[in-house]
Amino acid sequence: MFIIRQREKNLLAHTFALWYPWHHTNLTERTTVGCMLKTFSYRLYPSRSQARLLDSTLETCRRWYNQCLSERRDAYQQRRESISVYQQLARVKEYKATNPYAKGIHSHVLQTVVTDLDRAFQGFFRRVTAGVQPGYPRFKGRNRFSSFGFKEYGNGFKVDGRRLRLSGIGRVAVRWHRPLEGTIKTVRIVRKAGKWYARFVCETVPSPLPPTGRAVGIDVGITSLITTSDGEKVAHPAWYRVAQRRLRVLQRRVARRKTGGSNWRKAVAALRREYERIANRRTDFLKKLVHRLIVRYDRIALENLRITTMVRNPHLAKSILDAGWGYLIEHLTSKAAEAGRVVLLVDPRNTSKTCSQCGHIFETLSLSDRWIDCGCGLSIDRDHNAAVNILNRAGQVRWGGSSRGGGLPQAAAPL
Ligand SMILES: [Zn+2]
Repeated sequence: MFIIRQREKNLLAHTFALWYPWHHTNLTERTTVGCMLKTFSYRLYPSRSQARLLDSTLETCRRWYNQCLSERRDAYQQRRESISVYQQLARVKEYKATNPYAKGIHSHVLQTVVTDLDRAFQGFFRRVTAGVQPGYPRFKGRNRFSSFGFKEYGNGFKVDGRRLRLSGIGRVAVRWHRPLEGTIKTVRIVRKAGKWYARFVCETVPSPLPPTGRAVGIDVGITSLITTSDGEKVAHPAWYRVAQRRLRVLQRRVARRKTGGSNWRKAVAALRREYERIANRRTDFLKKLVHRLIVRYDRIALENLRITTMVRNPHLAKSILDAGWGYLIEHLTSKAAEAGRVVLLVDPRNTSKTCSQCGHIFETLSLSDRWIDCGCGLSIDRDHNAAVNILNRAGQVRWGGSSRGGGLPQAAAPL
């Protein structure tokens, strides 16, 4: 294995944080009944002067974020006082009046920074209460702050012809690669690997798919990416292993070169590009997989891998889902909500070791046992058995009655 020094580690972590969309704010959440929020992302093409303004806005926001954070931290450390989000929101006006850089920035942008910080604190407190490793909100370094937001359409931002008008920035060119749907609520301006994006949150009405009356359990495995309770398998995409190998070569190159030197910088740039490429392909692959599942099944049950392990699941190592699990769940859930489908995450304990017909537990089952022969007469592929268990468990938990998935008829098109 290769050794990565702390600085490179930080850099890699940062690279991940930038390129994995699910690290950013929540993509989809339900609002009022019948309505849902959906995110649409578009590449921005700012002019040179607009790009300078975007950069300086982001930098001012970062400083404002750090200032608010230190204010909260000092108040607590020195006086055991906690400063509320409202107190800090009220200070935006004063900040604008005293800081020449903040003067030209829309007050909603600076308010959003305060609420972003508050969300970080809420997460921190939630983790403290839950007894999980908490992690105090961080001060943001230059490379760790990547977005700012406007919170009201028509107040600070507006679609103006083919362009996006941003207060304090100007009319920015947008590549509208797909139509926006619904009513625009907010926008977040994101910098990602030197490129700018606008991420609109819109309120849309879900468009349900016709019900199919079919439920499925899905096992995430090593030999196949997923196995369904219908006995179908989806293989790992062939390109993934190749891409991983290439990534390791590039990582080694970064590790070997002199930190900070020009060759090191080139190697880092190449590594980032490769990460971005893989992340894009992974996202694309998972989106298509989700689409195929949503079209075919009304109810989809998966293992809740977050229940058992906060650490990495050995099941997923080397799998495309190792880095994409969160995204898969998020995307599946949001698409399901839109299409009127149900996704259920079930306790994954012993799903592989239990006979799906009689409930017998195979204590001695090892990872290399790919086939299960039970005393009750069941002879079944190991992952298929696990998928049926997952489906059954979902039936017991929420869906009412036990729905045996193994006997469901196969649809015409393979997954
Ligand atoms: Zn059995």
